[in-house]
Amino acid sequence: MTALLIRNGRVIDPASGRDETADVAVATSAAGGKVIEIGPSLSTTGVSRIIDAKGLIVAPGLIDPHVHLREPGQEDKETIASGSQAAVAGGFTAVCCMPNTTPALDCPELVRFVYDRARQTACRVYPIGAGTVGRKGEAITEIALMHEAGAVGFSDDGDVIASAGMMSRVLTEVAQVGSVFMQHCQEPTLTRGAVMHAGRVSTRFGLTGWPRVAEEVIIERDIRLNKGIGCRYHVQHLSSAGSVEIVRCARAEGQPVSAEASPHHLLLTDEAIDQDGVPNALAKVNPPIRERSDVDAVRAGVADGTITILATDHAPHTASEKARPIESAPFGLIGLEGALGLYAKALIEPGLIDWPRLIALLTVNPAALCGLDKHGLGRIAIGGPADLTLIDPDCAWTLDEAALAGKSCNTPFLGWSLGVRAVVTIVNGRVLHAVDAQLASAPG
Ligand SMILES: [Zn+2]
Repeated sequence: MTALLIRNGRVIDPASGRDETADVAVATSAAGGKVIEIGPSLSTTGVSRIIDAKGLIVAPGLIDPHVHLREPGQEDKETIASGSQAAVAGGFTAVCCMPNTTPALDCPELVRFVYDRARQTACRVYPIGAGTVGRKGEAITEIALMHEAGAVGFSDDGDVIASAGMMSRVLTEVAQVGSVFMQHCQEPTLTRGAVMHAGRVSTRFGLTGWPRVAEEVIIERDIRLNKGIGCRYHVQHLSSAGSVEIVRCARAEGQPVSAEASPHHLLLTDEAIDQDGVPNALAKVNPPIRERSDVDAVRAGVADGTITILATDHAPHTASEKARPIESAPFGLIGLEGALGLYAKALIEPGLIDWPRLIALLTVNPAALCGLDKHGLGRIAIGGPADLTLIDPDCAWTLDEAALAGKSCNTPFLGWSLGVRAVVTIVNGRVLHAVDAQLASAPG
């Protein structure tokens, strides 16, 4: 029986190339919700719930391959449960959580702990395993066993693997299991004590700067190391124009390199740190937001296909931590709830890419990166899981604290006016988020 019928939406599924006005029918069973039919004017007989999607985009559920859910160890900032609430509020049906928890996700038992916690949560949660024990860069983890336990990628995110010898071993092991390594590119001896981008604003405040080259030398090194290994290598949160160019050249050579961009690197410059002459820790993030030329280069990298994935790097911190002086405040900002509107502002509104491209960056591409395509995620297909996001491409709303479903609200984007919003989020056939009650009504 059809449990849910989504009518008259613009169905965009980049995996199949579909972009047409159609209905999508979903059936639910003990095994979960599945898409059973896609087409014009499907029957409403026996349907228990109808969603009128006229004027809306019906997309595969959005996937964020880079979030920090803080559990175990820092549950005052976020938990797997609260982070998944933030995800569905932002239109995300699946997220991959980074291993910089306390303790780090560096063994099969902790990979299984995340899955266990995620069973009761809103969206799907997939763990990324650490490449080195405790993310200390000294001893390699049991990569094959963690992969078997369900780690969908590997990373020491929050830190780089600084030793070239260790990086080489990790790339080799990750290649052997066919997984992906995601690098946080930061040469540590170039960024000691750094607070923000090294430029005019850091000089104005007398703050230690984080230079672009600290990111670029790691990407160059890893690509060189990986030439004889052939691991799938993914650059997290690209921040500099030079980094975009390095990735562009490697991809042109056919190397297995991909990269992601985050909302803040697509929209903000280091001037965001200067709040009426006082440094604003809400805009302190790693890697730092840089200059206009970098923002333009990251956007151009998305437009020309160098950057194929968007990721929020959702990094919750408590209000008191972010209220500290900028030197001691932690790096990071939350991203899940506002991300879609911010991506559209950076990429669709200036005409850099169209809707099918934006949706590919948020669905089929991250699904392939983390092997979630094996579970049918990242696409709308008959018989596939009913993970769907309904997007209003033309609605005015403001990202305010009331819109935040997670535990923390550390973002410099609060108060921003946005024109695009995820209005309904459906995970495994269940409507878990709906902005307008009128959208999700009984037939009649
Ligand atoms: Zn990172």
